Amino acid sequence: MAFPLPLKRVIENLSRLPGLGEKSATRLALYLLGRPEEEIRELAQSLLELKEKIRLCRHCFNFAEDDLCSICSDPDRDPGLICVVEDPADLAAIEAAGIFRGHYHVLHGLLSPREGLGPREIRLEALLERLKKEPVREVLIALSPTVAGEATASYLVELLKDLPVQVTRLACGLALGMEVRYADRLTLKRALLAREKVLPS
Ligand SMILES: [Zn+2]
Repeated sequence: MAFPLPLKRVIENLSRLPGLGEKSATRLALYLLGRPEEEIRELAQSLLELKEKIRLCRHCFNFAEDDLCSICSDPDRDPGLICVVEDPADLAAIEAAGIFRGHYHVLHGLLSPREGLGPREIRLEALLERLKKEPVREVLIALSPTVAGEATASYLVELLKDLPVQVTRLACGLALGMEVRYADRLTLKRALLAREKVLPS
C-alpha cells in the first residue's frame, strides 16, 4: 500500500484488534488522521492509562483503581450476598440492572480443561477461601447458560454443597419474544427447571 510509514503503522496496529480487518482498520486510521490533535492525544493517553491504572480488586477481582474496587469499598453493600460472574462485563450488566446490592466474585473465565483453565485459574479456590472467612449467607451464580457456563456452574454447586451457604442461580428462561421452537436446548432446560408457579395462587 502506498501509505506513508506512520499511517501504515497505525493501520497495522488497529488491524490486530478483534473484529477489525485491514479494510476497516484503514478506514479507521484515515478517520483518526482527520480528527483534531487534542482528540487523538486524549485517545492515546486513555489507552496508556488503561494499563497503568487498572488492576484487579484483591477481594473480588473486579477491575479497580485501588486495592479494593468501588463495590467492595462501599459500606452500603451487603457482604453476606456474593454474586459469581464470568467477567467484569457481566458484572457491569448486572450493576446496570440496578437492583443488586451485594458483593461480587469475578472469575475472569470459565472452566475449560482444553485451555488449561481449572478451578484455581478461574479463582474458584479464592471463592472458597472467601466463604471460609466471611459471613456469607448466599452465593448467587450468575453465569451464562452456555455449555462452559453450565459446566462451571455445576462444578461450583458441587463445590459448595457441604458449606452452610444458600446457593441460587439467575432465573433465566426464554427471552421475551422468543419462540419456544427456536430456543436452544440449554435455554429450554433452564426455563423448564425455573418454571414459575401460576396456580393455585
Ligand atoms: Zn472488589
